[in-house]
Amino acid sequence: MIYGGIEAGGTKFVCAVADDQGRIQARTQFPTQAPQPTLAQAIDFFRGFPGLAAVGIASFGPISLTEGRITSTPKPGWQNFAIVDAVKSALDVPVAFDTDVNAAAVGEGKWGAAQGLDTFLYLTVGTGIGGGAVVGGRVIHGLHHPEMGHIRIPHNGVFRGVCPYHEDCLEGLASGKAIEIRFNGAQPPEDYWDEEARLLALGLVNWICTLSPQLIIMGGGVMKKEGLFPKIRIKVAQFINNYVPIPKIVPPELGDDAGVLGAVTQALDGLR
Ligand code: ZN
Repeated sequence: MIYGGIEAGGTKFVCAVADDQGRIQARTQFPTQAPQPTLAQAIDFFRGFPGLAAVGIASFGPISLTEGRITSTPKPGWQNFAIVDAVKSALDVPVAFDTDVNAAAVGEGKWGAAQGLDTFLYLTVGTGIGGGAVVGGRVIHGLHHPEMGHIRIPHNGVFRGVCPYHEDCLEGLASGKAIEIRFNGAQPPEDYWDEEARLLALGLVNWICTLSPQLIIMGGGVMKKEGLFPKIRIKVAQFINNYVPIPKIVPPELGDDAGVLGAVTQALDGLR
């Protein structure tokens, strides 16, 4: 049996076909444009694999899980787009749907850094910031789904943040988009990375104190900055101040495939 995964990101779509051991057999990626042409490329790719048993979609959010839609995104054309129906009707297979970060968390739990753990966090720091948490072996949903990037954290007020909804939430302050705007598209000065680590560590201590994760996995483009992980670990230790144990903070073992393999995992698990 083979399964399809779509990581529907704000800047790029990644599509892959994998077996039930998470071994990728084919993969493609392309820029996220308007919904129709973007979905058409994804569907063309999957039509090359007639034996597909199911497809999982790991989507940027916010999303409505019950309606299979992307909801209040600022991305032009994508508001209220019914992505699940579009894929289901084109490929005629069962479709699983979740946020990109929930899927990545599930994928890392099945095949990556969090194998054997039942309570852990996956955070992406890219264009935006998002988090997915598995607690007691289940990925957290709830009234909606967590939007961890939009928590409020203390900051010095010099930079006010870029989130259109909250300005100074964690995503507004520390995402790739925030860095881009803060430095007018130029490379941030080297000493900025201490501040970036401080902002992200402030986010992390909130989840360490609320979820007590056994592991924190951090992915996304911003996390590729050399030396950022050690800076974050130092700041987290300072903020926790020996009050509770601190989990390991590591990059995704599945690397850039965490999202798309998470989508495959959900296709697989959904079918079961
Ligand atoms: Zn926000």
